[in-house]
Amino acid sequence: MMIPTIPTPEELLDKGFRRGKKTADLVRTSKIPRSIKGKKIEEAKVITACQVIKDRLKMIVDRVPTIEELPEFYQDYIDITVGVDQMKQSLGAMNWAYGILTQLEKDYAGKIRRAPSSKASELQRQAYGRVASVVKKIKKDLDFLDFAKANLRNMPTIDFEATTIVIAGFPNVGKSTLLRQITDAEPEVANYPFTTKGIQIGHIERKWKHIQFIDTPGLLDRPVLDMNDIELNAMVALEHLADAILFIFDPSQTSGYLLENQYTLYNEIEKVFNITPIALFNKIDIVNTFDEGRQEEIKEFISQFDDPLLISANQGKGIEEIINKLENVRKQPRDDVHKDPDDYNGLE
Ligand code: GDP
Repeated sequence: MMIPTIPTPEELLDKGFRRGKKTADLVRTSKIPRSIKGKKIEEAKVITACQVIKDRLKMIVDRVPTIEELPEFYQDYIDITVGVDQMKQSLGAMNWAYGILTQLEKDYAGKIRRAPSSKASELQRQAYGRVASVVKKIKKDLDFLDFAKANLRNMPTIDFEATTIVIAGFPNVGKSTLLRQITDAEPEVANYPFTTKGIQIGHIERKWKHIQFIDTPGLLDRPVLDMNDIELNAMVALEHLADAILFIFDPSQTSGYLLENQYTLYNEIEKVFNITPIALFNKIDIVNTFDEGRQEEIKEFISQFDDPLLISANQGKGIEEIINKLENVRKQPRDDVHKDPDDYNGLE
């Protein structure tokens, strides 16, 4: 997200006052009648300082996108990462300061013009004192925007036109291996709240259709009941994006997760996203080495799914079948309802 560099109050004042002095020097060397020159100098200081500080505040407000106009996913992202209310409040403070400075500029320019020359420099100092106190009042808001800038850099770049497939499944089942096999280029890695490895986004272009894949290591890979509210929010934000979920099972269980626990996670994700995930069974090469009895058990488990896909991601086997299946996924119409994490309490 584009947040410009945020100055400290000291930097803001320093710049304003320095420019004020420069303009005053220009007035001092200009051909203005002596009788009014002193007043013109002080007036120029006040007007320039206010203008310079106001321009900077306006630039900040203009450059930060209007939060309500962003796609729901980004609104949620900002809310989870830094807080939307705090963000709005801080931008509001920039506008507040802008308004007060406009008033101060007008008041003091007028006062200096009307006052006797002997009073001009005292009025200018008074004006600067008030400008400084206004700028200091927005210190915590400037600090917050600087914090937001740092935390919102490297936000994921989502293509909202693309059909979006969210990948889920326990750790080590082969999600990132699959993502790398399936997509055209190395997946893009961006920050995502509450994931250590961030979010990975890959793309493919097929038959005039753009499909986007999203993997969030550390988020859709453990029981929903273990998550706190904030993590749930981070997961729910993905709901705005998912047109389909690709749930990866590891029937070899070499990832260390029992099939029945994997099935529980599958059901939880189905409930949270309100989409039946597409079931994918990976590491079939390993399963094929099992004795017949174990293979039978696994086959029976798999047979409860409609049209299951059996693949071997690291050998690139079954990738075409996945893509063929995903070409039929339709983009979901979005209702812009923000779900509450409480909706998921009582998941069993
Ligand atoms: P993730 O944590 O779900 O992203 O899992 P990874 O993609 O990192 O894979 C975990 C491990 O399983 C890696 O060592 C992969 O090489 C291995 N792996 C992934 N797919 C297969 C497969 O189809 N067969 C075999 N034998 N190993 C696989």
